[in-house]
Parts: sequence; C-alpha cells; structure tokens
Amino acid sequence: MSQSSAQVRGARPAGMMQYRMLGRTALEISVLGFGASPLGDVFGVADPEEGKRSVQMAVDEGINFFDVSPYYGLTLAEERLGAALRGRRARVVISTKCGRYGLDQFDYSGNRITASLEESLGRLQTDYVDLLLAHDIEFGDHRQIVDETIPAMRRLQKEGKARYIGISGYPLRPLMRVAREVPLDAVLSYCHYNLLADDMDEMLAPVLEHRGIGLINASPLHMGLLTDHDPPGWHPSSGEMRAAAKRAGKYCRELGADLAELALRFCFDYPRAATTLVGMATREEVRKNLRAFEAPADPQVVRQVRAIFRDVFNCCWISGRGESQ
Ligand code: NAD
Repeated sequence: MSQSSAQVRGARPAGMMQYRMLGRTALEISVLGFGASPLGDVFGVADPEEGKRSVQMAVDEGINFFDVSPYYGLTLAEERLGAALRGRRARVVISTKCGRYGLDQFDYSGNRITASLEESLGRLQTDYVDLLLAHDIEFGDHRQIVDETIPAMRRLQKEGKARYIGISGYPLRPLMRVAREVPLDAVLSYCHYNLLADDMDEMLAPVLEHRGIGLINASPLHMGLLTDHDPPGWHPSSGEMRAAAKRAGKYCRELGADLAELALRFCFDYPRAATTLVGMATREEVRKNLRAFEAPADPQVVRQVRAIFRDVFNCCWISGRGESQ
C-alpha cells in the first residue's frame, strides 16, 4: 500500500471543526461529514469543477470524512471524488459502499463485493478505503448479508483494502438485526434522526452503543426536504410531509433564520452519532453548512418547528424487501 493505514494524517487546520471517534475504530472524524452523492448528479446536474472545489474547500476547512458509493451517479460520484482528493488522500477518511449498483441492481455476493471494492479503489485513486459499507442491506437477503457479504468484507479488511467495515440502509430493523448477529465497526442510518424523525435514537443507537459500533447519521436535511428548495422528483416523502416542510421553512424565514442551518445544528448536537453526513456539491453549501457551527440551535425555534412537523414526525416510507420493514 502506498499510504499505510497507520500513517498520521496531515495537520488539521485550526478552526471550529469538531471531531469524534467512530465507535471503537481508530477513525477520528469531523462532526460535519461530506456526503458525495450530489457529485454524482443525484440531486440534479452538478458542475464538476465547482464540485471539485467544494471537496477541496471542505478538506481545507477541516472536514475529513467523505462518504460515497458506486451507486451514486452509477460510479460518477466516486470518479469525481477521487479526482478532487488527488494529493489530499492522507488527510481524509474515505467511506465507500458495495452491493448496490442501480435503482434495482443489487449483488451482495462475496465475489461481487470483492470485485466492487477493487473497482472503487481505481475510481477513488487510492489503494485502501477507511470504511467499506454494505449499501442498503434491506434489499439483500439477511442470511447472505451475515454469512457471505460481511465475511467477504472482513477478508478485504485483512488484505488491507478496507480499514473498517459496516452496513447502511433506511429501515432500522434490518440494521439492528445484523448488528445484533455479527460484529461490525460502523452503521450508517439516514433520515431517522433530524428535525423530522428521531426513532433512530430509541431503536438503533442503543444496539450500536452496547456493542461499540460507530454510528453515522446521514441526511440531516431529510434528503433536501429541510431546505428552501424543492426536493428532487424521486424524493419518497408524502405530500403532507412536503407541505409541512414548506411551512417550517416559511416560519424560519419570518424569524430571519434558515431551516437547513437549524436542521444541521440540531444534528451536530446529537452526541451519539460520530458524524452528520450532509450532501454537498458547491462551495456555497460547504460555507453555509460550516456556518451552522457558529450559533447553537434556538430550543424555542426547534420546538416550534417540531410542532409544525407533529403530524408527519417519524413517518416512514417503504424501502427494500417486505420482510425488512
Ligand atoms: P441531505 O439531507 O444531506 O440533503 C442533501 C441535499 O441538500 C442536496 O440537494 C444538497 O445540495 C442540499 N444542501 C446541502 N446543504 C444545504 C444547505 N445549507 N442549504 C440548502 N440545501 C443544502 O441528504 P443526502 O445527500 O441524501 O445525505 C447525505 C449523505 O449521506 C449522502 O450524500 C450520502 O453520502 C449519505 N447517504 C447514504 C445513504 C445510504 O448509505 N443508504 C443514504 C442516504 C445518504
């Protein structure tokens, strides 16, 4: 390996970024993590040059955790992230995934997982990733995930190609079931802890905490819903949830506040998650999201926004196999 996993990362810039340990791993990651799915045009067409600059700016500002997947933009996000991080690899912690390759394309077999990581390493221009996650396990067969996928990932870890391994997904039960059955280093859960939901805290977090498994909280903006923009066409939320998000945005604007900033700060303050992963593809978003560290979330405003979300709070959509729900 050209860069040993034990190598000390480059000096962190002084600033307001905070870092937390990811479970029992040796990964100390920034509380604000960079979600790279928008680099793969998942939320609309991203300007590649601007995307590259946003990654580089994020590194310079102390963001060291970058999450991606071959699924995002069907390999485009990995390609772009790899190019943007050239020369900066030693300063960052890279998480990528395996097992999901398209909207309806899944393959959690040991052979595919092994080949998949090799392909990801090429696109990311590195010879190891810090974290490898089985992507959206609710679409896989539980027995295969436990008996084949994770053992294949552990072999890749032994070979030094992934420093740590874990799983990701939307419904909480499959994540909890796998975490109870097999040792893992980290779990990524999304849209289950933010201003619109908190069931991750009651269900998944205690299971992970008990086993020393690191928790990554993704999609603090509920995949773009908790912003002043319309969410993408594929967004699975109900009309009622979208309408409530619009009302919450308006309420914040009237106070001179920003719903996205409030939502982020609320998540940064959640101590059980090592990091909050936000999707970004512009320097303006990086700047805005760093600004969320500057002031604490006003508890009164959080209470009001929560009241607006009362009827849609913890409302979920279906993702994955029937038995995964
Ligand atoms: P998110 O809640 O982070 O929202 C992202 C959207 O919000 C994008 O459109 C982005 O451009 C926009 N945005 C970001 N900052 C903003 C701001 N300050 N103001 C207004 N708009 C802003 O949702 P996400 O991107 O889906 O989640 C974050 C990351 O978590 C992903 O990129 C991915 O890396 C990871 N993730 C993983 C899984 C999985 O493993 N199954 C699922 C979801 C997310």
